[in-house]
Amino acid sequence: MDPIRIAVVGVGKIARDQHLPAIAGNKAFSLAATVSPRDPGVEGVPHAKSLDELIANGPAVDAVALCTPPQVRYDLAVQALSKGMHVFLEKPPGATLSEVVALESRAEKVGATLFASWHSRFAAGVAPARAWLSDRRIEKVSIVWREDVRVWHPGQAWIWEPGGLGVFDPGINALSIVTHILPRPMFLQGATLEIPANRAAPIAADIEFRDTAGAPIHMDLDWRQTGPQSWDIVVETDEGTLKLANGGAVLTLPSGTEHAEDMEYPGLYARFASLIRGGRSDVDVAPLRLVADAFLRGHRKLVDEFHD
Ligand code: NAP
Repeated sequence: MDPIRIAVVGVGKIARDQHLPAIAGNKAFSLAATVSPRDPGVEGVPHAKSLDELIANGPAVDAVALCTPPQVRYDLAVQALSKGMHVFLEKPPGATLSEVVALESRAEKVGATLFASWHSRFAAGVAPARAWLSDRRIEKVSIVWREDVRVWHPGQAWIWEPGGLGVFDPGINALSIVTHILPRPMFLQGATLEIPANRAAPIAADIEFRDTAGAPIHMDLDWRQTGPQSWDIVVETDEGTLKLANGGAVLTLPSGTEHAEDMEYPGLYARFASLIRGGRSDVDVAPLRLVADAFLRGHRKLVDEFHD
């Protein structure tokens, strides 16, 4: 079978750190082009400054991975789908819920694959956590996602703008895990969003959810954490406590701790290839819906200005 010719669109941090190595390591794909307004791309690989330019001048591609900020992703996805290309959306899949739903039906209409990726669901501990929780009674869940925005998002102006999600940009990774491992759906009960006086998006959030059986789920997000960083989920059940640490990489069950190799992006590209070969899409908006609910129902508290 010929490899899927893919273009990486938006050559920034995540494209360089993860997408380009994952594509290079997967024989189902060949990197046909890169597209980025300012970044020069990869030596030896055709490069365009815009998707328009790639479509006009080639080379031909079968698929695109959209690694841009979320605010520009919808138009790029529509353009790619209109040419019959398969589309991989980085997380969050869009700047609004409705645009993602619109993309899903457009992909179906043109017979192309749309993959709304959630990389944290491919962290090593997540699949075994989901299996272990499937037949247990959930009593209480605690999510603590505290990191230093200056370390992880230096100079990313888009992340503070409407549609950029602020602290929910990392926080949605926790929600992508929790919505995947818990046996029941969850919904928001209340939230407080702390918003710096000079920014549009929250720097911290405290959120109460509950699952449909009534179990409380608390989420603590903070971008002002210096020193050790926390990406932890603790689930108390009728048969003991499960802990996922390091963003889902390390799983501790009552029987002990499991570490496994990080395979998030190789896992995402294996899934994208299998969706394309099978003529299917995978679009789960549950994590984005919970974030939208926090913006809908949360109290806003103005806090000190934030400067990089
Ligand atoms: P980033 O470093 O700011 O890179 C985004 C790139 O998109 C920019 O370098 C820019 O390219 C390009 N771009 C902007 N508008 C474009 C357009 N219209 N057409 C083509 N390219 C365009 O951001 P990032 O950290 O890589 O994050 C991108 C997405 O990945 C976000 O949704 C984020 O949540 C997600 N993500 C990030 C991480 C991470 O660790 N950073 C991890 C997982 C997921 P130029 O520089 O050429 O202008």
